[in-house]
Amino acid sequence: MLEAVALTKDFGTHRALDALDLRVEAGEIVCLLGANGAGKTTTINLFLGFLEPSAGEARVDGVDVRSDPVGSKRKLLYVPEQIALFGELTGLENLIYFAALSGICDRSPANLRRCLAQAGLADAAMDRRAAGYSKGMRQKVGIALAIAKQARALLLDEPTSGLDPQASAEFHSLVVRQRDAGAAVLMVTHDLFRAREVGTRIGLMREGRLRRMIDAADITASELESLYLEEMG
Ligand code: ATP
Repeated sequence: MLEAVALTKDFGTHRALDALDLRVEAGEIVCLLGANGAGKTTTINLFLGFLEPSAGEARVDGVDVRSDPVGSKRKLLYVPEQIALFGELTGLENLIYFAALSGICDRSPANLRRCLAQAGLADAAMDRRAAGYSKGMRQKVGIALAIAKQARALLLDEPTSGLDPQASAEFHSLVVRQRDAGAAVLMVTHDLFRAREVGTRIGLMREGRLRRMIDAADITASELESLYLEEMG
């Protein structure tokens, strides 16, 4: 579903991403871990078409995102670290707006309320102005959009940083539900514990390179921590 082929990005003389080869199939979660500046966000931005690769390809469903930017965006849902909502609008109104931007056909309030409810937003909260939303509530609007869009792939960039443990657990269980519904998920995170818990595979990145790809089922939490420290060391 998502595929990076020798994907490379230079910023001037600095190589931020160096010949990344990566596949994320439907129904799996691949987590990218690594120190600051490892190239994780650059990877996500290349899949989203926000950046042009210097070499290689970012493919969605086998198609280079540069050759079909509109089609690939339709299949993707991006959840950044901070979802920006319009504070003056309610959660539901925000979702109606973003659903229109995303080209979602069924933008009826009834359908979008159902999506917000599936994402765990309380009914009363949907009609409150988003200015008063916690970060966890804003991230739920992002997941509701993924549900409404029936996104084939989720690109998540540190989606739970700053969330309390309960909100983080709730968010991850929503992501797992999307995976179980057949989505391919690429998630950048600094949370080793969650990466092992929800990830199918875990990629360790450093200085633009994917140093290791690990099957999450094959490793304990403490082994992952040791490997991580070894690779980053
Ligand atoms: P973090 O965990 O801090 O988010 P990251 O692994 O996501 O780090 P990237 O944001 O992908 O790292 O950055 C990789 C490298 O590319 C860094 O050295 C960064 O400074 C550089 N970089 C990223 N975006 C740009 C840009 N637009 N212009 C110049 N350099 C950039």
